[in-house]
Amino acid sequence: MITPEFEIDILASQDSPPAFAWDDWYRGVGGRTIDIPEADEYMHKIQTEQYPRFEGEISSHKQNYSPEDASKLIKLKAIEFGADIVGICRIEPSDIYQGRTVKEEFAIAVGQRMKWSEFQNVPSDESAIECLRIYYSLGETVIKLAEFIRSIGYACTVEHPVGDSNVLHIPIGLKAGFGELGRHGSIIHPKLGPLFRMGSVLTSLPMEIDYPIDAGIAKFCDNCRACRIYCPADAIGDNRTPEGGKDHLGNDRYMVDTGKCFPYFAEHKYCSICLPVCVYNHKEWAKDFTGTPTKLFPEIAMETPPPPCDSVSESQKHRYPLVKRGE
Ligand code: SF4
Ligand code: SF4
Repeated sequence: MITPEFEIDILASQDSPPAFAWDDWYRGVGGRTIDIPEADEYMHKIQTEQYPRFEGEISSHKQNYSPEDASKLIKLKAIEFGADIVGICRIEPSDIYQGRTVKEEFAIAVGQRMKWSEFQNVPSDESAIECLRIYYSLGETVIKLAEFIRSIGYACTVEHPVGDSNVLHIPIGLKAGFGELGRHGSIIHPKLGPLFRMGSVLTSLPMEIDYPIDAGIAKFCDNCRACRIYCPADAIGDNRTPEGGKDHLGNDRYMVDTGKCFPYFAEHKYCSICLPVCVYNHKEWAKDFTGTPTKLFPEIAMETPPPPCDSVSESQKHRYPLVKRGE
């Protein structure tokens, strides 16, 4: 059976947020102040070695599979290329940044776990380097997966975890069954916890899709406030808020005050405190999946936060609540 490749244009929803204006945010807080050669080297390699490999030739020998077989094949390949988790979902307008258009029907979400051993002290040089290492490593996975998809005759788009993206990684990860949205704004996977990062490849190769999960994680967040307590910028909300829309279970989302988080993140080695302090599945991470002996809870440096900074224009700004401003 010949399975058709859909020719489509999916327009962003009118309610979609604008793409995150990283450069404007950095300018607003005085530029990139994190100076760690190993982290800079990863960023340099991402920009010079990986960005040019996003495009490639599509084989004229198109292979045909059933959606079930295509899904199995793609997942096997993603794991072979370094993914720890992989899921597939159909792209909807709400998954696309404001004003952008996507030509593909499906997103293949891939995730890689970060090393718990590098988050024993946060923030630190080690944790900052690990943040960039995982982006480089994920970049290799999505680029190789895209090359494979082209080799079987299908067009695709690489959505690298660093840089400009057409799609929102979090809703795609939720729909692809990666976990539930934590109070800290990151997805919590039932086994990996929140200490993983995501990238994706978009394609119209017809594939069987995955579905969101309800493992009780979002409910757990309602009774746990560890990330809220340890956030040095006081940026994580006490309550769910309708301002952020709904999560995949229909709950109002918890939202992070980006205007408070970003200045801290930009000045303190990509902060990341809210991830390793998250109590969800701590015991699993403590083994570091490799047997490396680690502490159950990190040492945390909570410096006095810089003033909040909402340094991008309204039209560029992601919606976020102002958490305890002016108190
Ligand atoms: S990255 Fe740091 S400042 Fe931002 S929300 Fe997490 S703990 Fe708070
Ligand atoms: S620390 Fe607690 S409240 Fe915060 S995301 Fe993790 S489980 Fe949820």
